[in-house]
Amino acid sequence: MERKTFLKTTGLLIAGGLMGKTRATERYLADEVMSNGSTIPATSDYLMMDLHVHRSNKQTIEDIVAKSEKTGIRFGVMQNIAPWGMKSDADLKAYIDELKPYPVYIGLQPMMPGWSKNFSPELIAQADYVAMDPQVVSNGNGYNETINVWEYASYIDDPETFMGRNMQHYMTILTGDDPINIFACPLFLPASIEREYHKLWTKKRLQQIIDAARARNIAIEINDLVRVPHEEFILMAKRAGLKFTFGSDTRDEKTGRLDYCKYIAQKCQLTQKDFYIPEREI
Ligand SMILES: [Zn+2]
Repeated sequence: MERKTFLKTTGLLIAGGLMGKTRATERYLADEVMSNGSTIPATSDYLMMDLHVHRSNKQTIEDIVAKSEKTGIRFGVMQNIAPWGMKSDADLKAYIDELKPYPVYIGLQPMMPGWSKNFSPELIAQADYVAMDPQVVSNGNGYNETINVWEYASYIDDPETFMGRNMQHYMTILTGDDPINIFACPLFLPASIEREYHKLWTKKRLQQIIDAARARNIAIEINDLVRVPHEEFILMAKRAGLKFTFGSDTRDEKTGRLDYCKYIAQKCQLTQKDFYIPEREI
């Protein structure tokens, strides 16, 4: 969609906004038109941001900047700190130096608790935010296997045992010493137990996560790709005063789609004050 069409279909454009004067497209009173043609009425009023975007061989930083200019969405680029990603200060510095010239936020996505001891705090502080997800659960089944929750073949022998380990892993991340601003992709479960989502995510577990996030002022990502978390959790977190982010979790032309995020934010009546915004102006 061309920019002009987008602005027209999304309704009233408010110039200026919270982030200063640099861009005209930064704040919407959004009359969102979804891909299926349905329209969400213009009661949402917040800066449209997507803080979970990756570069890839299908999407360069220039592509991301172009999409931002076309859609008015502000993007935060993330890169993994992991055995397959950044492993040293040199890697981290190279990443930050690469992104600095561009009008995007610079995000870190570590995969393992304890990651920060391998990096200098000064360098970590040059990133705009750290987002960590709880998707690699070591010792996650009765066979002592590491469960990568996104993998179709993750083997869960006993759902309750997995949930016990899963909650421990959540708490390790949320209550640990590593810097963290955003808890990414919360509540996503392996495919084999996904049907039991509402049974396994008891109110007590949800509250435990919210209390831990609140104690360290950690924002909650609404993940567009796998449509988590659900309404009940968002409303509980909102009541507790937690902030939210949108994350498309994309690395190709799908970047900029945020249908679930916009839908559930509308349903939960999130407004600007409910969103986490990185400090640096881009
Ligand atoms: Zn990611």
